[in-house]
Amino acid sequence: MTVELICVGTELLLGNIVNTNAAYLAEQCALLGLSMYYQSVVGDNPDRLKELLVTAKERSDLVILCGGLGPTQDDLTKETAAEVMGRRLVLDLRARDEIDAYFRQRGSAITENNWKQAMVPQGSIVLYNANGTAPGIILEGENVCLILLPGPPGELIPMFKAQVFPYLHRLQPEIICSKMVKLCGVGESRVETEILDLIEGQSNPTIATYAKTAEVHLRITAKAASEAEALSLIAPMEAELCRRFGSAIYTDEEAVTLEEAIYQLLKKHQLTLATAESCTGGLLSGRLVNVPGISSYFKEGYVTYSNEAKEKLLGVSHQTLEMFGAVSKETAAEMASGCMKAAGAELGIGITGVAGPDGGTKEKPVGLVYIGCCYQGKCSVKEFLFHGNRSRVRESSVAQALTLLRAVILDEAGV
Ligand code: ATP
Ligand code: MG
Repeated sequence: MTVELICVGTELLLGNIVNTNAAYLAEQCALLGLSMYYQSVVGDNPDRLKELLVTAKERSDLVILCGGLGPTQDDLTKETAAEVMGRRLVLDLRARDEIDAYFRQRGSAITENNWKQAMVPQGSIVLYNANGTAPGIILEGENVCLILLPGPPGELIPMFKAQVFPYLHRLQPEIICSKMVKLCGVGESRVETEILDLIEGQSNPTIATYAKTAEVHLRITAKAASEAEALSLIAPMEAELCRRFGSAIYTDEEAVTLEEAIYQLLKKHQLTLATAESCTGGLLSGRLVNVPGISSYFKEGYVTYSNEAKEKLLGVSHQTLEMFGAVSKETAAEMASGCMKAAGAELGIGITGVAGPDGGTKEKPVGLVYIGCCYQGKCSVKEFLFHGNRSRVRESSVAQALTLLRAVILDEAGV
């Protein structure tokens, strides 16, 4: 079944509001296995809306409209849809009673224009609105079905979940379900090479790869009659990915970030952490602090930009800085062990590098970054040469620091 979406509102055209309803509805339609081929935005203008609707009803099986169902003069979606479908507007008694009750409950006076919301196209399915006054409408025609939804997301989303999703699911009983598997510490091309056979032979489920900063995400998607059945198709594929990538997979939950996975490890092994950052200037501690509850494990974060700060706060030796420079393996290692000792933590991370755009030399070009990670007495340092602008270099450094930290914890403390 093909579906198209029409969002109505001059505010959308002017960029005054972001079209979050479009993102929500598109995602839901994909989940329902409906093919969305067109999305349009039109202002509160009945002629242009009519023109668009006439085209839409010819080319799509299902047209979802949102916005313009309210009580005011410029809310004309319902009137226009009724006209295009050749239906009269009739009073819906339950809608009228609900509007009445809505205002009574709030102790506010009803204005005359509110009754307009109780008028519905003849023969439509009325979607009563538990969070507002404008009901939604399902209008089934010969070759097309129109679904009209209120604009405010606080009304649209609950109405979609409770009434539209089940309706569409009955029309198209197959649903699409997906699961995300997230990897760190392996490059995109290696991941793709290792799953080439799975991708080539795929039909249901399918796998898609997404390259992120120092991470690769794999989405496994299955089509089935129910969620349970889809999940049972996904499970063997996920098991195969686990077999191939092992500990490079840090989570199989869409919402879990790398820093959250690390938090879980710190918590599990009861390990505390300190950070020392030069070129990333606090970005790493910022990411760690994204995670609620990290305060029990993240003890101190140093931003030591100057050589003096590295000596004074972290005890990096003057000689190391003189001999090897601030951007060196040796300095990264001393930063990591220095912050660990200063904070009395079990783990320390040090980052030093050339973020650019200036400051690069032949020996130490822009993008050269050293990341050290100490666990108790042991220190490992990795060298990276990142590409991209200053912010890319800094973000890559942080992502690799988290990856290294995770690897050290897994090696030293276990999974
Ligand atoms: P109301 O009864 O509030 O007038 P309505 O169905 O007539 O609802 P609109 O008047 O088009 O809807 O929009 C009302 C509000 O809903 C907008 O001011 C905006 O905050 C929100 N809204 C409308 N359309 C969208 C959209 N596509 N994405 C996100 N928010 C939206
Ligand atoms: Mg309105």
